[in-house]
Amino acid sequence: MSNYEATGVLTLEDLKDRLPPKERLEKGPVVIIECIQKIPCDPCAHVCRFGAIKKPSLVEPPEVDYDKCTGCGECVAVCPGLAIFVVNLKYREEEALVTIPYELLPIPEKGEIFEALDREGKPVGKAKVVSVRRMKDKTTVVTVAVKKDLAMVVRNIGRKIE
Ligand code: SF4
Ligand code: SF4
Repeated sequence: MSNYEATGVLTLEDLKDRLPPKERLEKGPVVIIECIQKIPCDPCAHVCRFGAIKKPSLVEPPEVDYDKCTGCGECVAVCPGLAIFVVNLKYREEEALVTIPYELLPIPEKGEIFEALDREGKPVGKAKVVSVRRMKDKTTVVTVAVKKDLAMVVRNIGRKIE
Protein backbone atom coordinates (compact mmCIF):
# COMPACT_ATOMS: atom_id res chain seq x y z
CA MET A 1 0.00 0.00 0.00
CA SER A 2 1.38 3.42 -0.95
CA ASN A 3 1.61 6.26 1.54
CA TYR A 4 -1.20 7.93 -0.37
CA GLU A 5 -3.50 4.94 0.04
CA ALA A 6 -2.63 4.77 3.74
CA THR A 7 -2.88 8.46 4.64
CA GLY A 8 -4.45 10.34 1.73
CA VAL A 9 -1.34 12.53 1.54
CA LEU A 10 1.01 12.25 -1.42
CA THR A 11 4.75 12.06 -0.85
CA LEU A 12 7.62 12.56 -3.28
CA GLU A 13 7.99 8.78 -3.24
CA ASP A 14 4.40 8.40 -4.49
CA LEU A 15 5.16 10.97 -7.21
CA LYS A 16 8.62 9.81 -8.19
CA ASP A 17 7.56 8.61 -11.65
CA ARG A 18 5.41 11.67 -12.29
CA LEU A 19 7.83 14.57 -11.73
CA PRO A 20 9.87 16.49 -14.30
CA PRO A 21 13.47 15.31 -14.63
CA LYS A 22 16.02 17.33 -12.64
CA GLU A 23 17.49 18.85 -15.82
CA ARG A 24 14.06 20.20 -16.86
CA LEU A 25 13.37 21.56 -13.37
CA GLU A 26 16.64 23.44 -13.47
CA LYS A 27 15.72 25.13 -16.78
CA GLY A 28 12.88 27.21 -15.30
CA PRO A 29 9.13 27.17 -14.68
CA VAL A 30 7.51 23.80 -15.23
CA VAL A 31 4.27 22.14 -14.30
CA ILE A 32 4.03 19.60 -11.48
CA ILE A 33 0.89 17.47 -11.70
CA GLU A 34 0.14 15.63 -8.47
CA CYS A 35 -2.81 13.65 -9.79
CA ILE A 36 -2.39 9.89 -9.56
CA GLN A 37 -5.93 8.64 -9.18
CA LYS A 38 -7.97 7.08 -11.95
CA ILE A 39 -10.80 9.58 -12.17
CA PRO A 40 -12.91 10.72 -15.10
CA CYS A 41 -11.52 14.23 -15.45
CA ASP A 42 -9.59 16.09 -18.14
CA PRO A 43 -9.78 19.92 -18.10
CA CYS A 44 -5.99 20.06 -17.69
CA ALA A 45 -5.47 18.36 -21.05
CA HIS A 46 -7.91 20.67 -22.83
CA VAL A 47 -6.63 23.96 -21.43
CA CYS A 48 -2.95 23.54 -22.29
CA ARG A 49 -2.49 25.38 -25.58
CA PHE A 50 1.03 23.99 -25.91
CA GLY A 51 -0.19 20.40 -25.96
CA ALA A 52 1.98 19.50 -22.99
CA ILE A 53 -0.69 17.50 -21.14
CA LYS A 54 -2.23 14.33 -22.50
CA LYS A 55 -4.67 11.90 -20.95
CA PRO A 56 -4.19 8.36 -22.31
CA SER A 57 -7.90 7.91 -21.56
CA LEU A 58 -10.43 9.92 -19.59
CA VAL A 59 -9.70 8.02 -16.38
CA GLU A 60 -5.94 7.55 -16.63
CA PRO A 61 -3.80 10.13 -14.79
CA PRO A 62 -2.40 12.88 -17.04
CA GLU A 63 0.96 12.53 -18.76
CA VAL A 64 3.17 15.57 -19.36
CA ASP A 65 5.63 16.40 -22.12
CA TYR A 66 7.85 18.66 -20.04
CA ASP A 67 9.69 19.97 -23.08
CA LYS A 68 6.43 21.50 -24.32
CA CYS A 69 5.48 23.06 -20.96
CA THR A 70 6.23 26.77 -20.60
CA GLY A 71 5.11 26.95 -16.97
CA CYS A 72 2.32 29.38 -17.91
CA GLY A 73 0.08 28.16 -15.08
CA GLU A 74 -3.17 28.03 -17.07
CA CYS A 75 -3.75 24.42 -16.02
CA VAL A 76 -3.39 25.30 -12.32
CA ALA A 77 -6.57 27.38 -12.54
CA VAL A 78 -8.79 24.67 -14.04
CA CYS A 79 -7.96 21.57 -12.03
CA PRO A 80 -10.93 20.68 -9.79
CA GLY A 81 -8.66 18.54 -7.64
CA LEU A 82 -6.28 21.47 -6.92
CA ALA A 83 -3.58 19.03 -7.94
CA ILE A 84 -1.50 21.14 -10.34
CA PHE A 85 1.41 23.40 -9.43
CA VAL A 86 4.24 25.19 -11.21
CA VAL A 87 7.76 25.29 -9.79
CA ASN A 88 10.43 27.74 -10.95
CA LEU A 89 13.87 26.93 -9.61
CA LYS A 90 15.49 29.73 -11.60
CA TYR A 91 13.81 32.60 -9.76
CA ARG A 92 16.73 33.58 -7.55
CA GLU A 93 19.95 32.12 -6.16
CA GLU A 94 18.35 31.30 -2.79
CA GLU A 95 14.64 31.25 -3.64
CA ALA A 96 12.27 29.37 -5.91
CA LEU A 97 8.73 30.18 -6.99
CA VAL A 98 5.85 27.82 -6.33
CA THR A 99 2.52 28.49 -8.04
CA ILE A 100 -0.50 27.07 -6.25
CA PRO A 101 -4.28 26.99 -6.67
CA TYR A 102 -6.01 28.97 -3.91
CA GLU A 103 -9.73 28.87 -3.14
CA LEU A 104 -9.95 30.49 0.31
CA LEU A 105 -10.85 34.07 1.22
CA PRO A 106 -9.48 36.63 1.61
CA ILE A 107 -7.44 36.32 -1.51
CA PRO A 108 -3.76 36.96 -0.74
CA GLU A 109 -2.13 40.13 -2.00
CA LYS A 110 1.26 40.67 -3.56
CA GLY A 111 3.93 41.31 -0.90
CA GLU A 112 2.11 39.53 1.93
CA ILE A 113 3.94 36.79 3.81
CA PHE A 114 2.26 33.54 4.85
CA GLU A 115 3.22 30.32 6.52
CA ALA A 116 4.40 27.93 3.81
CA LEU A 117 2.65 24.56 4.21
CA ASP A 118 3.75 21.13 3.03
CA ARG A 119 1.45 18.49 1.52
CA GLU A 120 0.24 17.52 5.00
CA GLY A 121 -0.60 21.14 5.83
CA LYS A 122 2.34 21.41 8.20
CA PRO A 123 4.18 24.79 8.38
CA VAL A 124 7.69 24.45 6.97
CA GLY A 125 8.77 28.07 6.47
CA LYS A 126 7.69 31.36 4.98
CA ALA A 127 6.09 32.12 1.62
CA LYS A 128 6.06 35.61 0.12
CA VAL A 129 3.33 36.32 -2.42
CA VAL A 130 4.85 37.58 -5.67
CA SER A 131 1.78 37.43 -7.91
CA VAL A 132 -1.93 36.69 -7.82
CA ARG A 133 -3.99 35.82 -10.90
CA ARG A 134 -7.75 36.05 -10.52
CA MET A 135 -9.70 34.64 -13.44
CA LYS A 136 -13.45 34.65 -13.88
CA ASP A 137 -15.00 31.26 -13.00
CA LYS A 138 -11.59 29.72 -12.37
CA THR A 139 -9.49 29.03 -9.30
CA THR A 140 -7.24 31.88 -8.19
CA VAL A 141 -3.60 31.17 -8.88
CA VAL A 142 -1.07 32.43 -6.34
CA THR A 143 2.69 32.40 -6.83
CA VAL A 144 4.91 32.51 -3.76
CA ALA A 145 8.66 32.71 -3.22
CA VAL A 146 10.08 30.13 -0.84
CA LYS A 147 13.55 28.95 0.13
CA LYS A 148 14.86 26.93 -2.80
CA ASP A 149 15.12 23.69 -0.85
CA LEU A 150 11.36 23.91 -0.15
CA ALA A 151 10.30 24.10 -3.81
CA MET A 152 9.20 20.47 -3.94
CA VAL A 153 7.82 20.58 -0.38
CA VAL A 154 5.54 23.64 -0.23
CA ARG A 155 2.11 23.06 -1.75
CA ASN A 156 -0.11 25.54 0.11
CA ILE A 157 -0.08 28.63 2.29
CA GLY A 158 -1.58 28.99 5.74
CA ARG A 159 -1.72 31.78 8.31
CA LYS A 160 -0.74 35.27 7.24
CA ILE A 161 2.41 36.37 9.06
CA GLU A 162 3.00 39.90 7.68
S1 SF4 B 1 1.84 25.22 -17.14
FE1 SF4 B 1 0.98 25.97 -19.11
S2 SF4 B 1 2.27 24.99 -20.67
FE2 SF4 B 1 2.63 23.85 -18.76
S3 SF4 B 1 1.19 22.17 -18.83
FE3 SF4 B 1 0.16 23.84 -17.72
S4 SF4 B 1 -1.02 24.93 -19.30
FE4 SF4 B 1 0.50 23.64 -20.37
S1 SF4 C 1 -7.73 18.45 -14.15
FE1 SF4 C 1 -6.65 17.95 -12.24
S2 SF4 C 1 -7.82 16.28 -11.27
FE2 SF4 C 1 -8.48 16.42 -13.44
S3 SF4 C 1 -7.14 14.94 -14.50
FE3 SF4 C 1 -6.15 16.94 -14.68
S4 SF4 C 1 -4.73 17.00 -12.92
FE4 SF4 C 1 -6.19 15.34 -12.51
